[in-house]
Amino acid sequence: MSDRSKLLIATRNAGKLRELSELLGDLPHELVSLDDVGILREVEETGRTFEENAALKAEAYCKLSGLLTLADDSGLEVDALGGEPGVRSARYAGADATDAQRVDALLRNLGDAAPQDRSARFRCVIAIAAPRRRTELYSGSCEGRIVSEPRGLNGFGYDPIFHFTELGMTMAELPPETKNRVSHRSEAVKKAARALRSRHR
Ligand code: IMP
Repeated sequence: MSDRSKLLIATRNAGKLRELSELLGDLPHELVSLDDVGILREVEETGRTFEENAALKAEAYCKLSGLLTLADDSGLEVDALGGEPGVRSARYAGADATDAQRVDALLRNLGDAAPQDRSARFRCVIAIAAPRRRTELYSGSCEGRIVSEPRGLNGFGYDPIFHFTELGMTMAELPPETKNRVSHRSEAVKKAARALRSRHR
């Protein structure tokens, strides 16, 4: 395959890489990761919005690799916390914290808020950057509420405490195929995949 049909998936998060690869599996492109192309540099997420961070990562890794590049920025917005952790979702309990520590920090900060005060949403923005083209953005979201104790073993990140209203379970209780069909990431990726099929062959 030529370089033109490669698509660089610019994330080092193993959970996101797995979900994105599954969601993009039927594209005509050859999917490659940052490790596959030997890019060690970390691009800092200095933006104030998911849109800014997705675009700055896609554009930086596109420049470093010369390849068509897809990057995402995603996170959890909790209304009672003024939209936090938002763009800080990955660093909410410090740079080296685990998923379990981030979940604990969120539950602690939310305290004993009543169910109606625990509304939240996952958001995902995907950016596609290509050499000499304007960067494109696609977004998805899903609504739910934060439960008081983690439930379920699937997924990653805040999945065990996010009760997904539409299906009546936490994201971590859903089988991975189901999460991939309904998630914020899936909604954004489906829109991006349509563009990749039609405009970026
Ligand atoms: P980033 O997009 O790499 O900045 O990281 C987003 C962070 O938001 C992840 O590290 C998770 O903590 C959280 N997050 C994003 N999407 C999901 C999801 O689908 N389930 C659970 N947590 C998520």
